[in-house]
Amino acid sequence: MSSEKTPIPAGSNFIRAIIEKDLSQNKYATKKWAGSPGDAAHQDTGVVDVAKIRTRFPPEPNGYLHIGHAKSIFLNFGLARDFDGICHLRFDDTNPEKESQEYVDSISDAVQWLGFGWDNTNETNLYFASNYFDLMYRAAESLIETGHAYVDEQSADEMRINRGTLTEAGKDSPYRSRSVADNLARFREMRDGKHADGSMVLRAKIDMASPNINMRDPAIYRVRRAHHHNTGDKWCIYPMYTFAHPIEDALERITHSICTLEFEDQRPFYDWLLERLAEAGLLAHPLPKQYEFARLNLTYVVLSKRKLIQLVEEKHVSGWDDPRLPTLAGARRRGYTPAGFKLFTDRIGVSKADSWIEYTILEDCMREVLNVDAERRIAVLDPIKLVIDNYPADQSEDCFAPNHPLKPELGKRTVQLTKELWIEREDFMEVPSKGFFRLTPDGMVRLRYGYVVKCTGCEKDADGNVTVVHCEYLPDTKSGTPGSDSVKVKGNIHWVSVAHAYEAEVRLYDRLFKEAHPGEGKHEDGRERDFLDDINQDSVQVITTQLELSLKDAKPEESFQFERHGYFVADKKDSVAGKPVFNRTVTLRDAWQK
Ligand code: ATP
Ligand code: MG
Repeated sequence: MSSEKTPIPAGSNFIRAIIEKDLSQNKYATKKWAGSPGDAAHQDTGVVDVAKIRTRFPPEPNGYLHIGHAKSIFLNFGLARDFDGICHLRFDDTNPEKESQEYVDSISDAVQWLGFGWDNTNETNLYFASNYFDLMYRAAESLIETGHAYVDEQSADEMRINRGTLTEAGKDSPYRSRSVADNLARFREMRDGKHADGSMVLRAKIDMASPNINMRDPAIYRVRRAHHHNTGDKWCIYPMYTFAHPIEDALERITHSICTLEFEDQRPFYDWLLERLAEAGLLAHPLPKQYEFARLNLTYVVLSKRKLIQLVEEKHVSGWDDPRLPTLAGARRRGYTPAGFKLFTDRIGVSKADSWIEYTILEDCMREVLNVDAERRIAVLDPIKLVIDNYPADQSEDCFAPNHPLKPELGKRTVQLTKELWIEREDFMEVPSKGFFRLTPDGMVRLRYGYVVKCTGCEKDADGNVTVVHCEYLPDTKSGTPGSDSVKVKGNIHWVSVAHAYEAEVRLYDRLFKEAHPGEGKHEDGRERDFLDDINQDSVQVITTQLELSLKDAKPEESFQFERHGYFVADKKDSVAGKPVFNRTVTLRDAWQK
């Protein structure tokens, strides 16, 4: 396994090179577009397409989008934007069983969240493949009429056996030489509900001896009595994906149909089918072309809808938007940002070779973007009390903390210093380990944006746990005053006034899987691993924290750097006005890489 990527200059990739060549050869200069998807007769009524290229993002609405889809979204919408083209959002909803409106809505949300849309000048390019069922049906009849398809009544087993193998040619079905009239009649009976589910299929008639098994008379229509979320019970036959997808592309006048590598072997059928339908006058030239790129594989996560559905349905996570999931809805709640995903997809590039990308690359991208975008705030995550014994009990003093070290124009905010403060438990050590420069008995440290304090001791409970730390402050040493440099200290710790703190729930998220390749390999006793075996049981910790008061006003989805800790976002779901809860997006440094 390698996380290497083919070196491609930023902003460039092999698909871009293909498009540049196509455009320089005026390949689409006379392509007509009638303003909506349709067959050749329809498109002929149109004008030369203003879109220089057309791409599409074609999710099946059978789950939520994940980080892998983000790669495809940036690629397809990005190419259209860069080449004066248009990218369609097409719901590939030809499979009736697993599709639902909830998924349609969540996919639309995710695409828009990433910064893309389907409303273009004079047209809305949001399509549902199921709206093409009539045209697909006509395409199937056309193939039958031209002798390129037949109804096969072999059993599924017979068909499998007769398909042959990689080294052995297949055998022709006994139904392969039926007449056109016979095939047409049978196919119509299939449509009219005269035949049981699975009893027969329509197959393309190509070549049972082809070295490419996908060309050995692939099935193109099957009988399936299932309710469809868009077309209801209108159909009891449904097109196969490999038949439907090229037709969808052609009806929408897609120029570059970009898909993942596993469809490479389907490309000959894609071209065969569209050429046959163009010959029959049903589809217009120029026909769409398919190009394949390597799908995103990311360590420590699973990017397969089937597995994500299992995690949600079996309640290993709280829902599709659980901040630990690699769904875009989850990543969003986690505080990952569209700009971070953009940086990530640019950085990993587009290649034709499958590889694994290290999860830390994604985290680094989020850190880089948040470092620039997020304001700083002070948060004590594991609070212990610090009492400044020589500070007046009734005094409260303004200290000034910069909102962003890289952006002085964002100014400073005021935080209050008082006698009693919250500090991090780990910033005090009664018996310091080597190299520990924070609070220790007799040690000195700077309270960030405040004074230098000298520790004088601590209080403990019956079990010996430290409950309160005591110190005295050095009045002349306040940050930002001339005396601030008079005493040199090695440590610098953050704090929040007890009287001015917002006690808040914070969720510390960690990786959902403890193995880089969940489910790969075998257990010690030889059993195959399941991805569920690799779930990290400690992937979330919910804590009660003491935050600076201004964080009480954080708006849902607002991100901050909690100084010395990392990036946190106000949860969009569980926060209420004046009482936000925070999710840790990513730590300041990678804790997994030793
Ligand atoms: P899964 O295999 O997890 O079910 P899928 O590929 O079936 O996902 P679709 O809804 O068909 O999901 O995907 C829509 C588009 O997103 C397709 O064009 C597909 O190529 C692309 N896509 C899906 N997963 C990835 C990935 N991991 N990396 C890049 N692109 C992807
Ligand atoms: Mg798919």
